[in-house]
Amino acid sequence: MLTRREFGQRGAALLTAAGVRLPMWERALRPMVAPASSTERPLLLGVDYYPDQTPENLWEEDARLISEAGLTNVRIAEFAWSLMEPSEGKFDFTWLKHSVEILHKHNIAVILGTPSAAPPPWLTEKYPEILMVNSEGMTVHPGGRRFTCPTNKTYRKLSLTIATEMAKNFAETAGIIGWQIDNEFTLQQFGRCYCKYCREGFQDWAKQKYGTLDSLNQKWGTAFWSQIYTDWRQIPVPLPSNGPPNPGLALDYDRYQSYANASFAGEQLVMLRKECPQHFITTNSVGAPFDTLNLRELFRDLDFVSNDNYPGFAAMFMEGEVTPERVGRSSAISHDSMRSVKGGKPFLIMEEQSGKAGQPSFGPQPHPGQLRLWAFQAIAHGAMGVNYFRWDTARFGAEEYWHGLLNHDRSKSPGFEEIIRTVADMKVLGREALESSYVAETALSFDQDCDWALQIQPGHPKLTYRDQLVEWYGAVAGANTGTDLIHLDEDLSKYKAVFAPVQYVVGARQAENVRNYVRNGGMFVAGFRLGAKDESSQIVNMPLPGLLRDVMGATLKDYVPIYTEKVGVAFEQQLAGREGQCGLWADLLVPESATVLAKYVGAYEGAAITMNAFGKGKAVYIGADLDGTSLSRVIRTLLEMAGSKSEFTSPPAVEITRRRAGGREWVFALNHSNEGQKITVSGTFTSVLDKKNFDRELELKPYEVVVLKRS
Ligand SMILES: [Zn+2]
Repeated sequence: MLTRREFGQRGAALLTAAGVRLPMWERALRPMVAPASSTERPLLLGVDYYPDQTPENLWEEDARLISEAGLTNVRIAEFAWSLMEPSEGKFDFTWLKHSVEILHKHNIAVILGTPSAAPPPWLTEKYPEILMVNSEGMTVHPGGRRFTCPTNKTYRKLSLTIATEMAKNFAETAGIIGWQIDNEFTLQQFGRCYCKYCREGFQDWAKQKYGTLDSLNQKWGTAFWSQIYTDWRQIPVPLPSNGPPNPGLALDYDRYQSYANASFAGEQLVMLRKECPQHFITTNSVGAPFDTLNLRELFRDLDFVSNDNYPGFAAMFMEGEVTPERVGRSSAISHDSMRSVKGGKPFLIMEEQSGKAGQPSFGPQPHPGQLRLWAFQAIAHGAMGVNYFRWDTARFGAEEYWHGLLNHDRSKSPGFEEIIRTVADMKVLGREALESSYVAETALSFDQDCDWALQIQPGHPKLTYRDQLVEWYGAVAGANTGTDLIHLDEDLSKYKAVFAPVQYVVGARQAENVRNYVRNGGMFVAGFRLGAKDESSQIVNMPLPGLLRDVMGATLKDYVPIYTEKVGVAFEQQLAGREGQCGLWADLLVPESATVLAKYVGAYEGAAITMNAFGKGKAVYIGADLDGTSLSRVIRTLLEMAGSKSEFTSPPAVEITRRRAGGREWVFALNHSNEGQKITVSGTFTSVLDKKNFDRELELKPYEVVVLKRS
C-alpha cells in the first residue's frame, strides 16, 4: 500500500519521465508531511451547516441540536467569501471564529471550505476578466456560481489569498479538523472555459507536452484543413468554427481544462499543507458517469476523496423506465468510481441527500426508509462517513427548495428521526467497519479519454460513452461480486474479470497491461470500437482492434453504424440462448485464433462475439451493441466462467456488497424497492445492528438495509 507521499512522488516521477515539467505546486508538494491519522479524529458523521445564512441568535441552538442529534462534525463557509472579505484585502473572520467556538463548545468538529467557487460582486466588478467564456464563446455572467476561469491569474491569486487568510486565522483554532478546497469543480452548466487566458494556458501546456511545433503538428494531423501551426500563439481553443474541431486538439483541450482545475486546487493544497499540516485536505465532486474532470488528477495529492450523493435526482432525470435497481445503481456507480479514484481508500460523503432537493424544481420526496438506504449504500460501497446536506433549509437564494434536517420554519423535517437513527447505527457499526476495504472481484474501465474522444466524434449520433458505461455497469455490478472502476493501466491482477465498454482510445501502456493480465490468467471483456484510436485521437494504422488484435485473437472485417436495419444476434456455444438485438453499432468480427460465441443475423455477415484463449487467460470481444437483457445475460455467464459468482441469490432490486478488515467481513444487503424481497444464502449470518440470526433465507422489508456477519 502506497502512502500519500509515496503516491505523490511516484506520480510526479511518471510525469517527469514523460517529459512534462512539473508545475510549482506539484514540486512544492513533494517534501510535505501527511496529516494526522484517521484514528485521531472523530467519525465523520455530520452535516453541512450555514452560519453565514443563519441569524447569530440561532447559532447556539443549532449547535446544541446538532450535537443532540448525535452528529459529530459540520462543513461550513464554502460559499461565504463576501462575508469573509467584504472588500478587497479587508478580511473579517470574527463571525466565523464565533461560530466555530460555539460548535466546538458543543463538541462539533469543523471542516472549513475555501470559498473560491463563488467570488463576491466587488471582485467580478473590478476584475471582469476572471469570468468564464462558455463553449459558444459567450462570457458567463456572475450571479450564479462557478462562473470563473480556472486559468486566470487574478482569480487564482485572489482565491489563494482568501484561502491563505482563512488558513492563517484557523490553523490553531480548536475544533478545526480539515479542509474542503473549493466546491464541486466543473459541476455546473458549463464544464469548460474557452477564454483568452485559457487559450494562452493551453498553448503553454501544449508546448510543455509536445516540445516542438513539428511534433504537435504531426500528433494533431494539422495537414488536414490547412491547420499547420508555425507559432505557439496561433493555436486556438475549440470554439465554433463552421466545422468540427481537430479531434487531437479538442481532446487535448479537455485534458488541459482538467489540468487547469486540478492545478488551481493544487495551489490551495500546497498552501494548506504548509499552514495547517495537522488538518486533512479534500475536495468534493461526483463520480461516474459524470466525467468533466480527470478525477485521478484532481484527487492525486488530496488525503481522501469526497463524493456528493443525491439519489433522488436519478428518478428526476432518468430516461426510460425508472426501476428501483436503476435508481440504486445510479448512486452505486458514483460511489464505486469515487472509491476507485484513490485505489479503494475509504471516501467521505460530503453532501448526502436529507430530503427532497432541487434548485428550480423539487426532486421526489424520499419515501420512509430511503434516506437510511441511500446513506448506508454509500457505506456499503466504501464510504467512511456521511455529511448530510444540509442542517436547515434556506429561506432565500437559489436553493430554497433544497431541504435539510430542519424545515423552513425550523421544525424537524420528515426525515429527521430517520437520519438520527441512521447515524446512531453507523456508530454501532464502528470505525473498523467504516474504514474497512471494499471487496471487488471485477473491474470496469472508466476512461475519460474514451469518453471525451467519443463526445468529440460519437461515430453514431446516438452513441454515448456514458450510456454504454451505465449499461455495462448495471450488468457487471448486478452480479453482486463487487466492481471497481479503473483505468486499464492500473494493476489488474487482483480482478477475476475486467470489462471495457467502448474502449475507443487504447495507449501502448494500456495494451501491454491488458496483454499481461490475460496472459497471466485474467478474463478481459471488451465492447465494440476497441482500440480504434491512439492517445492523440488518430485512427490507428493497423487492422482493428489495433494494439490488442493478438490478445483478442480476432480482427474486424468492417464496422457498421446502424440506423434503420434490424440486426439480430444469434448466440452459440457457452452463450447459447435466446436471440438478441444489435442496437447502434456492429463490429463485424473475423476470428483468427478465437472461437465464435455469437453471429449476426440479417444484413451483415460476421461474428458478433468471439472468445480467445491467450496465455492462461481469456479475451472476449463483444462486437455488437447488445440489447440490455442479452448484455446482462452474456456478462453474467462470462462472470461465472471467470469464477465470480455471489454466494447470495437475490432479486434485481437487492444489492449486496462486502467490506473487509483483517479477518472480519461485513455484508451489506440493500433493498432498493418499496416491496419486501427475499435473499438466500448457504450458511448462517447474524445481523450486526439487531443481532438477529439468519439461516439460509433473509427477508428484507421495503427499503431495508441489513448488515450481516458470518455467525
Ligand atoms: Zn478561461
